[in-house]
Amino acid sequence: MIPYGRQDISQADIDAVVDVLKSDFLTQGPAVPAFEQAIADYVGAKFGVAVNSATSALHIAVKALGLGEGDLMWTSPITFVASANCGRYCGADVDFVDIDADTFNMCPDALAAKLEAAEAAGRLPKVIVPVHMCGQSTRAEEIAALARKYGIKIVEDASHAIGASYGEDKVGACAYSDITVFSFHPVKIITTAEGGLATTNDPVLAERMGLLRSHGVTRDPALMTHESDGPWYYQQVDLGWNYRMTEMQAALGLSQMARLDQFIDRRNALADRYDSLLADLPLQIPGRTDGARSAWHLYVIRLDDAAKHREVFEYLRANGIGVNLHYIPVHTQPYYRDLGHKVGDFPASEEYYSRAISIPLFAGMSDVEQNDVVRVLSEALSK
Ligand SMILES: *Cc1c(COP(=O)(O)O)cnc(C)c1O
Repeated sequence: MIPYGRQDISQADIDAVVDVLKSDFLTQGPAVPAFEQAIADYVGAKFGVAVNSATSALHIAVKALGLGEGDLMWTSPITFVASANCGRYCGADVDFVDIDADTFNMCPDALAAKLEAAEAAGRLPKVIVPVHMCGQSTRAEEIAALARKYGIKIVEDASHAIGASYGEDKVGACAYSDITVFSFHPVKIITTAEGGLATTNDPVLAERMGLLRSHGVTRDPALMTHESDGPWYYQQVDLGWNYRMTEMQAALGLSQMARLDQFIDRRNALADRYDSLLADLPLQIPGRTDGARSAWHLYVIRLDDAAKHREVFEYLRANGIGVNLHYIPVHTQPYYRDLGHKVGDFPASEEYYSRAISIPLFAGMSDVEQNDVVRVLSEALSK
């Protein structure tokens, strides 16, 4: 089976993890801050806060922005459920903004219309979580302009998009947001097994997220409410969690960073090659956004004939091609239906879901493997 995604682990990656295992620190040592600094430097942000998953990063990000009971948070329906769940963890209501049919990203025009209606109704969101679907940046400048107009905070879910750029900026520079979140799950661009990281340029947000990832406890006298009792002293100044990344994870991530640009180049070459190999088949290739260079986490085709969707998907799986479907529109999940969302609420997202298939794409994929994918896909479509 050719998988839809797969991690790429080198001997240097293995050595980096083994070195940590032989060292004094398995957690709370030097590797985590080094990894945070490396990511912050790479994307051009001031601060990085590493945690045990992107799900945790999203949680502490929206929490640090003050999201709570009675507030409203908006995200895209075409994403992993974690992008929406972070709002629910804080007791906020979650709603969605439909996608642009061609790029699968939150549509700025739909956002503008929904914001206008929300303002008229007197219930604007406090935080918006746009998702860089498949690794391609949203039209971030337009979304940021709308957020500024209405006084809304932005957390970019860049789980797919480390290494991507938008204009002159790397995704994660937070040029158009308050906080950006990355995932290092093995199917993503680089991996720490499980892991996530939030970047920001705001020292207060960085400090708050740092507290929230570790019980709300600090040893920094500057953050304490009164003078330290002595060298043993720590204070709990907020209610946080244990979302810490281990040293082994950070060492793996740091080692993977050395090959990030190489991974992105290969993913771009494979995506360009798919575009031309698939040009004559009865399907739509992914749309591209002006000024954005995608990290190409996923390559999603949409079949012209939605009636063949399941049959083509099953044929590919049965013939060694590990396809997947990213994603089932979140608002149609039973949990979100119980909260009042309905099928029919976001037509572009539902239309996408009726035709979309993610075909294999990973940095270690060979041209021969890619040719196999295209051959089996052509067979499936001609049946
Ligand atoms: C993978 C993913 C997440 C969650 O990442 P974890 O690190 O597994 O918690 C969140 N949002 C999106 C869009 C993702 O693809």
